[in-house]
Amino acid sequence: MPDLDGDFDLLVVGAGIIGSRVALEAAQAGLKVALVDASDFGSGTSQSSSKLIHGGLRYLPMGDVALVRENHLERRALLDRVARNLVWPLDFVIPIYGGVGRAAELWAGLVVYSALSGFRHSRANLVGAKRALRLVPDLNARGLRAGGVYEDAQTNDSRLVIATVTAAAGLGVAVRNYTRVVGIEKGAAHVQGTEGTTTVRCKQIVNAAGPWVDEVRRLEDPSCKPGSRLSKGVHVTLPMPPGWRAAIARQVGGSRVAFALPWEDVLLIGTTDAPFDGDPDDVRVTESDLDQVFAEAALSLPAELLRRDRLLYSFAGLRVLELGGGTTAEAPREHVITEGPLGMVSVAGGKLTTHRRIAMDVLGRLSDERARRHRLADIPLPGSGAPPPSPAEVDPSVWDNLLRHYGTEATNLLTYREQHPDALERVHAAAPIVWAQVYHAVAAEWARSVEDIVRRRTTLAVRGLATPEVREKISRAVGAPLMR
Ligand SMILES: Cc1cc2nc3c(=O)[nH]c(=O)nc-3n(C[C@H](O)[C@H](O)[C@H](O)COP(=O)(O)OP(=O)(O)OC[C@H]3O[C@@H](n4cnc5c(N)ncnc54)[C@H](O)[C@@H]3O)c2cc1C
Repeated sequence: MPDLDGDFDLLVVGAGIIGSRVALEAAQAGLKVALVDASDFGSGTSQSSSKLIHGGLRYLPMGDVALVRENHLERRALLDRVARNLVWPLDFVIPIYGGVGRAAELWAGLVVYSALSGFRHSRANLVGAKRALRLVPDLNARGLRAGGVYEDAQTNDSRLVIATVTAAAGLGVAVRNYTRVVGIEKGAAHVQGTEGTTTVRCKQIVNAAGPWVDEVRRLEDPSCKPGSRLSKGVHVTLPMPPGWRAAIARQVGGSRVAFALPWEDVLLIGTTDAPFDGDPDDVRVTESDLDQVFAEAALSLPAELLRRDRLLYSFAGLRVLELGGGTTAEAPREHVITEGPLGMVSVAGGKLTTHRRIAMDVLGRLSDERARRHRLADIPLPGSGAPPPSPAEVDPSVWDNLLRHYGTEATNLLTYREQHPDALERVHAAAPIVWAQVYHAVAAEWARSVEDIVRRRTTLAVRGLATPEVREKISRAVGAPLMR
Protein backbone atom coordinates (compact mmCIF):
# COMPACT_ATOMS: atom_id res chain seq x y z
CA MET A 1 0.00 0.00 0.00
CA PRO A 2 2.39 2.69 -1.26
CA ASP A 3 0.11 5.57 -0.23
CA LEU A 4 0.42 4.49 3.41
CA ASP A 5 4.22 4.34 3.31
CA GLY A 6 6.12 7.15 4.94
CA ASP A 7 5.85 8.90 8.27
CA PHE A 8 2.55 10.49 9.18
CA ASP A 9 1.89 13.08 11.85
CA LEU A 10 -1.57 11.61 12.31
CA LEU A 11 -3.46 8.43 11.48
CA VAL A 12 -7.24 8.69 11.73
CA VAL A 13 -9.06 5.40 12.28
CA GLY A 14 -12.59 5.51 10.88
CA ALA A 15 -13.89 7.65 8.03
CA GLY A 16 -17.39 8.45 9.16
CA ILE A 17 -18.30 12.13 9.30
CA ILE A 18 -16.19 12.68 12.44
CA GLY A 19 -12.98 10.93 11.31
CA SER A 20 -13.06 12.45 7.84
CA ARG A 21 -13.52 15.94 9.30
CA VAL A 22 -10.69 15.37 11.80
CA ALA A 23 -8.46 14.38 8.87
CA LEU A 24 -9.53 17.43 6.86
CA GLU A 25 -8.98 19.91 9.71
CA ALA A 26 -5.63 18.33 10.61
CA ALA A 27 -4.50 18.62 6.99
CA GLN A 28 -5.59 22.26 6.96
CA ALA A 29 -3.45 22.74 10.07
CA GLY A 30 -0.45 21.45 8.09
CA LEU A 31 -0.20 17.88 9.41
CA LYS A 32 0.64 14.90 7.22
CA VAL A 33 -2.41 12.70 7.66
CA ALA A 34 -3.65 9.22 6.74
CA LEU A 35 -7.35 8.29 6.98
CA VAL A 36 -8.44 4.65 6.86
CA ASP A 37 -11.77 2.91 7.14
CA ALA A 38 -12.33 -0.79 7.73
CA SER A 39 -15.25 -0.72 5.29
CA ASP A 40 -16.48 2.01 2.94
CA PHE A 41 -16.30 5.71 3.82
CA GLY A 42 -19.46 6.63 5.69
CA SER A 43 -20.75 3.06 5.93
CA GLY A 44 -21.18 3.16 9.74
CA THR A 45 -23.59 5.41 11.63
CA SER A 46 -22.96 8.26 9.20
CA GLN A 47 -25.13 6.69 6.50
CA SER A 48 -27.98 5.86 8.87
CA SER A 49 -28.90 9.12 10.57
CA SER A 50 -32.18 11.03 10.29
CA LYS A 51 -30.24 13.37 7.93
CA LEU A 52 -31.12 16.42 10.00
CA ILE A 53 -28.82 19.38 10.46
CA HIS A 54 -30.76 20.78 13.33
CA GLY A 55 -30.68 22.88 16.45
CA GLY A 56 -32.17 19.96 18.37
CA LEU A 57 -35.53 21.22 19.58
CA ARG A 58 -35.92 18.21 21.87
CA TYR A 59 -32.82 19.19 23.87
CA LEU A 60 -34.50 22.40 25.08
CA PRO A 61 -36.75 20.73 27.68
CA MET A 62 -33.59 18.90 28.87
CA GLY A 63 -32.13 22.36 29.59
CA ASP A 64 -29.30 21.90 27.08
CA VAL A 65 -29.33 25.49 25.82
CA ALA A 66 -25.59 25.58 24.99
CA LEU A 67 -25.92 22.48 22.78
CA VAL A 68 -28.90 23.98 20.91
CA ARG A 69 -27.04 27.26 20.38
CA GLU A 70 -23.95 25.46 19.05
CA ASN A 71 -26.07 23.27 16.77
CA HIS A 72 -27.77 26.37 15.34
CA LEU A 73 -24.42 28.04 14.61
CA GLU A 74 -23.21 24.95 12.78
CA ARG A 75 -26.46 24.62 10.86
CA ARG A 76 -26.04 28.16 9.61
CA ALA A 77 -22.40 27.70 8.64
CA LEU A 78 -23.17 24.49 6.71
CA LEU A 79 -26.25 25.97 4.98
CA ASP A 80 -24.71 29.30 4.05
CA ARG A 81 -21.08 28.55 3.34
CA VAL A 82 -19.59 25.11 3.92
CA ALA A 83 -21.96 22.69 2.20
CA ARG A 84 -24.43 24.83 0.27
CA ASN A 85 -25.44 22.08 -2.13
CA LEU A 86 -25.57 19.30 0.45
CA VAL A 87 -27.51 21.03 3.23
CA TRP A 88 -30.90 22.55 2.52
CA PRO A 89 -33.70 24.10 4.64
CA LEU A 90 -36.72 22.10 5.73
CA ASP A 91 -39.90 23.27 7.50
CA PHE A 92 -41.41 21.14 10.26
CA VAL A 93 -44.93 20.89 11.61
CA ILE A 94 -45.53 19.67 15.16
CA PRO A 95 -49.21 18.63 15.15
CA ILE A 96 -51.16 19.62 18.25
CA TYR A 97 -54.07 17.37 19.13
CA GLY A 98 -54.30 18.46 22.79
CA GLY A 99 -55.74 21.55 24.44
CA VAL A 100 -54.79 25.22 24.41
CA GLY A 101 -52.20 24.73 27.19
CA ARG A 102 -50.16 22.39 24.98
CA ALA A 103 -50.18 24.94 22.14
CA ALA A 104 -49.01 27.77 24.42
CA GLU A 105 -46.23 25.61 25.85
CA LEU A 106 -45.08 24.59 22.39
CA TRP A 107 -45.20 28.15 21.11
CA ALA A 108 -42.98 29.32 23.99
CA GLY A 109 -40.49 26.53 23.20
CA LEU A 110 -40.40 27.39 19.49
CA VAL A 111 -39.78 31.07 20.20
CA VAL A 112 -36.83 30.21 22.47
CA TYR A 113 -35.53 27.75 19.85
CA SER A 114 -35.75 30.34 17.14
CA ALA A 115 -34.18 33.03 19.37
CA LEU A 116 -31.21 30.74 20.07
CA SER A 117 -30.54 30.67 16.34
CA GLY A 118 -30.54 34.49 16.24
CA PHE A 119 -33.81 34.09 14.21
CA ARG A 120 -31.67 33.05 11.21
CA HIS A 121 -32.98 30.19 9.05
CA SER A 122 -35.33 29.47 11.92
CA ARG A 123 -38.76 30.96 11.61
CA ALA A 124 -41.23 29.78 14.25
CA ASN A 125 -44.98 30.03 13.92
CA LEU A 126 -48.18 28.68 15.39
CA VAL A 127 -50.77 27.88 12.71
CA GLY A 128 -54.34 26.61 12.70
CA ALA A 129 -55.32 23.08 11.67
CA LYS A 130 -56.23 24.18 8.13
CA ARG A 131 -52.81 25.70 7.46
CA ALA A 132 -51.05 22.70 9.05
CA LEU A 133 -52.93 20.47 6.61
CA ARG A 134 -51.88 22.67 3.71
CA LEU A 135 -48.28 22.09 4.72
CA VAL A 136 -48.72 18.32 5.23
CA PRO A 137 -51.90 17.15 3.45
CA ASP A 138 -51.64 13.61 4.88
CA LEU A 139 -51.53 14.69 8.52
CA ASN A 140 -54.28 12.95 10.55
CA ALA A 141 -56.97 15.65 10.64
CA ARG A 142 -59.14 14.10 13.36
CA GLY A 143 -58.80 16.19 16.53
CA LEU A 144 -56.04 18.33 15.02
CA ARG A 145 -56.15 21.71 16.80
CA ALA A 146 -53.07 23.52 15.53
CA GLY A 147 -49.51 23.09 14.37
CA GLY A 148 -46.23 24.46 15.63
CA VAL A 149 -44.13 25.31 12.56
CA TYR A 150 -40.39 25.84 12.59
CA GLU A 151 -37.47 25.69 10.20
CA ASP A 152 -34.44 23.39 10.36
CA ALA A 153 -32.30 21.75 7.69
CA GLN A 154 -31.43 18.37 6.24
CA THR A 155 -28.59 16.79 4.30
CA ASN A 156 -27.50 13.69 2.48
CA ASP A 157 -25.28 12.24 5.21
CA SER A 158 -23.41 9.73 3.00
CA ARG A 159 -22.61 12.36 0.39
CA LEU A 160 -21.48 14.78 3.10
CA VAL A 161 -18.90 12.19 4.16
CA ILE A 162 -17.74 11.68 0.55
CA ALA A 163 -17.42 15.46 0.06
CA THR A 164 -15.37 15.69 3.26
CA VAL A 165 -13.09 12.79 2.28
CA THR A 166 -12.69 14.38 -1.18
CA ALA A 167 -11.67 17.69 0.43
CA ALA A 168 -9.20 15.87 2.69
CA ALA A 169 -7.68 13.97 -0.24
CA GLY A 170 -7.41 17.28 -2.10
CA LEU A 171 -5.17 18.52 0.70
CA GLY A 172 -2.90 15.48 0.42
CA VAL A 173 -4.46 13.19 3.04
CA ALA A 174 -3.78 9.51 2.20
CA VAL A 175 -7.34 8.14 2.20
CA ARG A 176 -8.15 4.41 2.07
CA ASN A 177 -11.38 2.55 2.47
CA TYR A 178 -11.55 -1.22 3.07
CA THR A 179 -8.45 -0.90 5.26
CA ARG A 180 -8.89 -2.00 8.89
CA VAL A 181 -6.64 -1.10 11.78
CA VAL A 182 -5.85 -4.43 13.46
CA GLY A 183 -3.02 -3.50 15.83
CA ILE A 184 -1.71 -0.43 17.61
CA GLU A 185 1.67 0.22 19.20
CA LYS A 186 3.63 3.33 20.15
CA GLY A 187 4.29 5.25 16.92
CA ALA A 188 2.62 2.78 14.53
CA ALA A 189 -0.56 0.97 13.57
CA HIS A 190 -0.98 -2.28 11.66
CA VAL A 191 -3.59 -2.13 8.95
CA GLN A 192 -5.15 -4.84 6.85
CA GLY A 193 -6.45 -4.09 3.39
CA THR A 194 -7.56 -6.18 0.45
CA GLU A 195 -3.92 -6.50 -0.69
CA GLY A 196 -2.55 -7.60 2.68
CA THR A 197 -1.19 -6.06 5.86
CA THR A 198 1.13 -3.11 6.35
CA THR A 199 2.46 -0.94 9.14
CA VAL A 200 1.65 2.77 9.16
CA ARG A 201 4.19 4.87 11.05
CA CYS A 202 2.47 7.81 12.73
CA LYS A 203 3.23 10.17 15.59
CA GLN A 204 -0.34 10.04 16.89
CA ILE A 205 -3.60 8.19 16.27
CA VAL A 206 -7.18 9.40 16.47
CA ASN A 207 -9.78 6.72 17.02
CA ALA A 208 -13.01 7.89 15.37
CA ALA A 209 -14.45 4.41 14.96
CA GLY A 210 -18.02 5.31 16.01
CA PRO A 211 -19.79 2.24 17.43
CA TRP A 212 -16.47 0.35 17.22
CA VAL A 213 -14.68 2.97 19.36
CA ASP A 214 -14.19 0.61 22.32
CA GLU A 215 -13.01 -2.20 20.04
CA VAL A 216 -10.25 0.09 18.69
CA ARG A 217 -9.44 1.31 22.23
CA ARG A 218 -8.82 -2.33 23.17
CA LEU A 219 -6.22 -2.61 20.38
CA GLU A 220 -4.22 -0.01 22.29
CA ASP A 221 -5.05 -1.25 25.79
CA PRO A 222 -6.60 -4.74 25.99
CA SER A 223 -7.58 -4.19 29.63
CA CYS A 224 -9.47 -0.91 29.10
CA LYS A 225 -13.05 -0.78 30.37
CA PRO A 226 -15.96 0.02 28.00
CA GLY A 227 -16.39 3.78 27.71
CA SER A 228 -19.70 3.92 25.87
CA ARG A 229 -23.05 2.22 25.29
CA LEU A 230 -24.94 1.87 22.03
CA SER A 231 -28.49 2.58 21.00
CA LYS A 232 -30.12 1.41 17.79
CA GLY A 233 -32.22 3.69 15.59
CA VAL A 234 -34.23 2.43 12.62
CA HIS A 235 -35.66 4.32 9.64
CA VAL A 236 -37.81 3.29 6.70
CA THR A 237 -38.47 4.91 3.34
CA LEU A 238 -41.80 4.99 1.51
CA PRO A 239 -42.90 6.56 -1.80
CA MET A 240 -43.28 10.32 -1.35
CA PRO A 241 -46.95 11.33 -1.35
CA PRO A 242 -47.70 14.53 -3.31
CA GLY A 243 -48.16 17.99 -1.85
CA TRP A 244 -45.97 17.88 1.26
CA ARG A 245 -44.32 21.24 1.92
CA ALA A 246 -43.01 20.37 5.39
CA ALA A 247 -41.98 17.44 7.58
CA ILE A 248 -43.73 16.15 10.70
CA ALA A 249 -42.08 15.98 14.11
CA ARG A 250 -44.09 14.38 16.88
CA GLN A 251 -43.16 13.53 20.44
CA VAL A 252 -43.69 9.83 21.14
CA GLY A 253 -43.24 9.17 24.82
CA GLY A 254 -40.59 10.75 27.03
CA SER A 255 -38.17 12.88 25.07
CA ARG A 256 -38.27 10.82 21.89
CA VAL A 257 -39.44 12.40 18.63
CA ALA A 258 -40.76 10.52 15.59
CA PHE A 259 -40.15 12.16 12.22
CA ALA A 260 -41.73 11.84 8.78
CA LEU A 261 -39.52 13.76 6.36
CA PRO A 262 -39.59 14.41 2.64
CA TRP A 263 -36.02 13.52 1.66
CA GLU A 264 -34.43 12.89 -1.75
CA ASP A 265 -37.86 12.17 -3.34
CA VAL A 266 -38.85 9.59 -0.68
CA LEU A 267 -40.66 9.81 2.65
CA LEU A 268 -38.19 9.02 5.42
CA ILE A 269 -39.77 7.81 8.66
CA GLY A 270 -38.13 7.11 12.00
CA THR A 271 -36.64 6.60 14.39
CA THR A 272 -36.38 4.19 17.29
CA ASP A 273 -33.99 4.46 20.24
CA ALA A 274 -33.30 1.15 21.97
CA PRO A 275 -30.26 -0.21 23.84
CA PHE A 276 -28.03 -2.40 21.65
CA ASP A 277 -25.63 -4.89 23.24
CA GLY A 278 -24.52 -6.88 20.19
CA ASP A 279 -21.62 -6.63 17.76
CA PRO A 280 -21.97 -3.37 15.76
CA ASP A 281 -21.24 -5.39 12.58
CA ASP A 282 -24.50 -7.27 13.17
CA VAL A 283 -26.89 -4.34 13.53
CA ARG A 284 -30.03 -5.13 11.54
CA VAL A 285 -33.63 -3.98 11.13
CA THR A 286 -35.97 -6.50 12.78
CA GLU A 287 -39.69 -7.04 12.30
CA SER A 288 -40.36 -5.52 15.72
CA ASP A 289 -38.34 -2.42 14.76
CA LEU A 290 -40.56 -2.05 11.70
CA ASP A 291 -43.69 -2.56 13.83
CA GLN A 292 -42.57 0.26 16.13
CA VAL A 293 -41.68 2.71 13.33
CA PHE A 294 -45.00 2.11 11.55
CA ALA A 295 -47.03 2.26 14.78
CA GLU A 296 -45.48 5.58 15.80
CA ALA A 297 -45.94 7.02 12.31
CA ALA A 298 -49.61 5.98 12.49
CA LEU A 299 -50.14 8.55 15.25
CA SER A 300 -49.81 11.25 12.60
CA LEU A 301 -50.43 9.56 9.24
CA PRO A 302 -53.24 7.47 7.69
CA ALA A 303 -53.06 3.67 7.51
CA GLU A 304 -53.31 3.65 3.70
CA LEU A 305 -50.05 5.59 3.40
CA LEU A 306 -48.37 3.24 5.88
CA ARG A 307 -49.22 -0.07 4.19
CA ARG A 308 -46.28 -2.44 4.63
CA ASP A 309 -46.26 -3.21 0.90
CA ARG A 310 -45.26 0.43 0.30
CA LEU A 311 -41.94 -0.09 2.13
CA LEU A 312 -39.04 0.80 -0.17
CA TYR A 313 -36.04 0.41 2.11
CA SER A 314 -35.08 0.28 5.78
CA PHE A 315 -31.85 0.83 7.66
CA ALA A 316 -30.49 0.72 11.20
CA GLY A 317 -27.76 2.82 12.80
CA LEU A 318 -26.06 2.91 16.17
CA ARG A 319 -25.71 5.96 18.41
CA VAL A 320 -22.69 6.00 20.70
CA LEU A 321 -23.72 7.29 24.12
CA GLU A 322 -22.01 7.98 27.40
CA LEU A 323 -22.20 5.20 29.97
CA GLY A 324 -24.77 5.87 32.65
CA GLY A 325 -28.26 5.13 33.89
CA GLY A 326 -31.56 6.26 32.41
CA THR A 327 -33.02 5.45 29.04
CA THR A 328 -30.92 5.81 25.89
CA ALA A 329 -33.35 8.50 24.64
CA GLU A 330 -32.58 10.65 27.70
CA ALA A 331 -28.79 10.15 27.52
CA PRO A 332 -26.74 13.26 26.70
CA ARG A 333 -25.82 13.54 23.01
CA GLU A 334 -22.52 15.34 23.59
CA HIS A 335 -19.31 13.73 22.40
CA VAL A 336 -16.68 12.39 24.78
CA ILE A 337 -12.93 12.50 24.14
CA THR A 338 -10.49 10.28 26.02
CA GLU A 339 -6.77 9.57 25.77
CA GLY A 340 -5.22 6.09 26.03
CA PRO A 341 -1.90 4.94 27.53
CA LEU A 342 -0.05 5.17 24.18
CA GLY A 343 -1.47 8.62 23.43
CA MET A 344 -4.32 7.57 21.12
CA VAL A 345 -7.17 10.10 21.25
CA SER A 346 -10.62 8.44 21.07
CA VAL A 347 -13.76 10.35 20.23
CA ALA A 348 -17.23 8.94 20.78
CA GLY A 349 -20.76 10.20 20.28
CA GLY A 350 -21.94 13.62 19.21
CA LYS A 351 -23.99 14.68 16.21
CA LEU A 352 -23.62 14.91 12.48
CA THR A 353 -24.73 18.55 12.85
CA THR A 354 -21.76 19.50 15.04
CA HIS A 355 -19.15 17.29 13.37
CA ARG A 356 -16.84 20.23 12.61
CA ARG A 357 -16.85 21.40 16.23
CA ILE A 358 -16.20 17.85 17.42
CA ALA A 359 -13.24 17.59 15.04
CA MET A 360 -11.87 20.85 16.45
CA ASP A 361 -12.15 19.52 20.02
CA VAL A 362 -10.19 16.46 18.91
CA LEU A 363 -7.47 18.62 17.32
CA GLY A 364 -7.26 20.54 20.59
CA ARG A 365 -6.26 17.30 22.33
CA LEU A 366 -3.43 16.35 19.94
CA SER A 367 0.24 16.70 20.88
CA ASP A 368 1.10 18.51 17.62
CA GLU A 369 1.09 22.22 18.33
CA ARG A 370 -0.07 23.07 14.80
CA ALA A 371 -3.24 21.09 15.46
CA ARG A 372 -3.85 22.76 18.82
CA ARG A 373 -3.38 26.23 17.34
CA HIS A 374 -5.64 25.53 14.37
CA ARG A 375 -8.93 27.49 14.19
CA LEU A 376 -12.14 26.51 12.43
CA ALA A 377 -12.62 28.38 9.15
CA ASP A 378 -15.74 28.08 7.03
CA ILE A 379 -13.87 26.76 3.98
CA PRO A 380 -16.45 25.46 1.48
CA LEU A 381 -16.43 21.76 0.69
CA PRO A 382 -15.88 20.78 -2.95
CA GLY A 383 -19.06 21.68 -4.85
CA SER A 384 -20.29 24.29 -2.36
CA GLY A 385 -20.66 27.46 -4.41
CA ALA A 386 -23.00 29.28 -6.75
CA PRO A 387 -24.73 26.59 -8.87
CA PRO A 388 -23.66 26.49 -12.53
CA PRO A 389 -26.36 27.25 -15.13
CA SER A 390 -28.48 24.38 -16.31
CA PRO A 391 -27.32 22.95 -19.68
CA ALA A 392 -30.13 22.86 -22.24
CA GLU A 393 -29.46 19.23 -23.18
CA VAL A 394 -29.82 17.83 -19.65
CA ASP A 395 -33.20 16.78 -18.27
CA PRO A 396 -34.07 19.30 -15.48
CA SER A 397 -34.70 16.62 -12.83
CA VAL A 398 -31.36 14.96 -13.65
CA TRP A 399 -29.63 18.34 -13.42
CA ASP A 400 -31.31 19.13 -10.06
CA ASN A 401 -30.09 15.82 -8.69
CA LEU A 402 -26.56 16.44 -9.99
CA LEU A 403 -26.56 19.94 -8.48
CA ARG A 404 -27.69 18.67 -5.09
CA HIS A 405 -25.06 15.96 -4.92
CA TYR A 406 -22.10 17.58 -6.68
CA GLY A 407 -22.87 21.31 -6.58
CA THR A 408 -20.45 23.29 -8.71
CA GLU A 409 -18.78 19.99 -9.71
CA ALA A 410 -21.95 18.88 -11.54
CA THR A 411 -20.50 20.20 -14.79
CA ASN A 412 -17.59 17.75 -14.45
CA LEU A 413 -20.02 14.87 -14.43
CA LEU A 414 -21.09 15.86 -17.95
CA THR A 415 -17.58 15.12 -19.26
CA TYR A 416 -18.21 11.37 -18.80
CA ARG A 417 -20.19 11.66 -22.06
CA GLU A 418 -16.87 11.78 -23.92
CA GLN A 419 -16.06 8.16 -22.95
CA HIS A 420 -19.53 6.82 -22.20
CA PRO A 421 -22.37 7.59 -24.63
CA ASP A 422 -24.90 6.48 -21.96
CA ALA A 423 -23.52 8.87 -19.29
CA LEU A 424 -26.72 10.92 -19.12
CA GLU A 425 -29.10 7.97 -19.34
CA ARG A 426 -30.96 6.94 -16.21
CA VAL A 427 -29.74 3.86 -14.32
CA HIS A 428 -33.38 3.10 -13.44
CA ALA A 429 -36.30 4.71 -15.24
CA ALA A 430 -37.91 5.76 -11.92
CA ALA A 431 -35.11 8.04 -10.67
CA PRO A 432 -33.04 10.93 -12.05
CA ILE A 433 -29.79 9.05 -11.31
CA VAL A 434 -27.59 8.71 -14.37
CA TRP A 435 -24.68 6.48 -15.40
CA ALA A 436 -22.20 9.39 -15.14
CA GLN A 437 -22.69 9.16 -11.36
CA VAL A 438 -21.78 5.47 -11.41
CA TYR A 439 -18.65 6.11 -13.48
CA HIS A 440 -17.73 9.06 -11.26
CA ALA A 441 -18.20 7.00 -8.07
CA VAL A 442 -15.57 4.55 -9.30
CA ALA A 443 -13.20 7.03 -10.99
CA ALA A 444 -13.18 9.79 -8.36
CA GLU A 445 -15.00 8.66 -5.20
CA TRP A 446 -13.27 5.41 -4.20
CA ALA A 447 -16.35 3.20 -4.78
CA ARG A 448 -15.26 -0.43 -4.77
CA SER A 449 -18.50 -2.39 -4.54
CA VAL A 450 -21.95 -2.14 -6.05
CA GLU A 451 -23.24 -1.43 -2.54
CA ASP A 452 -20.92 1.59 -2.28
CA ILE A 453 -22.58 2.97 -5.42
CA VAL A 454 -26.22 2.18 -4.74
CA ARG A 455 -26.21 2.97 -1.02
CA ARG A 456 -23.74 5.83 -0.48
CA ARG A 457 -22.67 7.49 -3.78
CA THR A 458 -26.24 7.57 -5.11
CA THR A 459 -29.74 7.22 -3.63
CA LEU A 460 -30.72 4.14 -5.67
CA ALA A 461 -30.99 1.92 -2.57
CA VAL A 462 -33.02 4.29 -0.37
CA ARG A 463 -35.43 4.77 -3.27
CA GLY A 464 -35.94 1.00 -3.38
CA LEU A 465 -34.41 0.84 -6.85
CA ALA A 466 -31.27 -1.22 -6.16
CA THR A 467 -32.94 -4.30 -7.64
CA PRO A 468 -30.87 -7.39 -8.55
CA GLU A 469 -31.10 -6.29 -12.22
CA VAL A 470 -29.80 -2.80 -11.44
CA ARG A 471 -26.97 -4.22 -9.30
CA GLU A 472 -26.07 -6.64 -12.06
CA LYS A 473 -26.06 -3.88 -14.71
CA ILE A 474 -23.82 -1.70 -12.53
CA SER A 475 -21.48 -4.57 -11.84
CA ARG A 476 -21.16 -5.31 -15.55
CA ALA A 477 -20.69 -1.64 -16.46
CA VAL A 478 -17.88 -0.92 -14.04
CA GLY A 479 -16.18 -4.31 -13.70
CA ALA A 480 -16.88 -7.65 -12.08
CA PRO A 481 -14.62 -7.05 -9.02
CA LEU A 482 -17.15 -4.50 -7.88
CA MET A 483 -19.54 -7.34 -7.09
CA ARG A 484 -18.11 -8.06 -3.64
C1 LIG B 1 -30.65 6.57 14.17
C2 LIG B 1 -29.73 7.77 14.23
C3 LIG B 1 -30.21 9.00 13.80
C4 LIG B 1 -29.37 10.12 13.86
N1 LIG B 1 -29.83 11.30 13.37
C5 LIG B 1 -29.04 12.38 13.41
C6 LIG B 1 -29.50 13.60 12.85
O1 LIG B 1 -30.58 13.67 12.26
N2 LIG B 1 -28.68 14.69 12.93
C7 LIG B 1 -27.47 14.62 13.55
O2 LIG B 1 -26.82 15.67 13.63
N3 LIG B 1 -26.98 13.47 14.04
C8 LIG B 1 -27.73 12.34 13.97
N4 LIG B 1 -27.27 11.15 14.45
C9 LIG B 1 -25.90 11.08 14.96
C10 LIG B 1 -24.88 10.97 13.82
O3 LIG B 1 -25.35 10.12 12.82
C11 LIG B 1 -23.56 10.46 14.38
O4 LIG B 1 -23.16 11.31 15.41
C12 LIG B 1 -22.45 10.41 13.36
O5 LIG B 1 -22.85 9.82 12.15
C13 LIG B 1 -21.28 9.64 13.96
O6 LIG B 1 -20.24 9.56 13.02
P1 LIG B 1 -18.88 8.85 13.36
O7 LIG B 1 -17.92 9.28 12.34
O8 LIG B 1 -18.53 9.07 14.79
O9 LIG B 1 -19.18 7.27 13.28
P2 LIG B 1 -19.37 6.30 12.04
O10 LIG B 1 -20.08 6.95 10.94
O11 LIG B 1 -19.97 5.05 12.58
O12 LIG B 1 -17.89 6.02 11.54
C14 LIG B 1 -17.03 5.13 12.17
C15 LIG B 1 -16.21 4.43 11.10
O13 LIG B 1 -15.15 3.70 11.72
C16 LIG B 1 -14.87 2.60 10.91
N5 LIG B 1 -14.09 1.62 11.69
C17 LIG B 1 -14.50 0.85 12.72
N6 LIG B 1 -13.49 0.07 13.16
C18 LIG B 1 -12.42 0.35 12.40
C19 LIG B 1 -11.07 -0.13 12.37
N7 LIG B 1 -10.63 -1.08 13.21
N8 LIG B 1 -10.23 0.35 11.41
C20 LIG B 1 -10.66 1.32 10.54
N9 LIG B 1 -11.91 1.80 10.54
C21 LIG B 1 -12.79 1.35 11.46
C22 LIG B 1 -16.25 2.10 10.50
O14 LIG B 1 -16.19 1.31 9.32
C23 LIG B 1 -17.01 3.40 10.31
O15 LIG B 1 -17.07 3.81 8.95
C24 LIG B 1 -28.06 10.00 14.37
C25 LIG B 1 -27.58 8.75 14.77
C26 LIG B 1 -28.40 7.65 14.68
C27 LIG B 1 -27.88 6.29 15.07
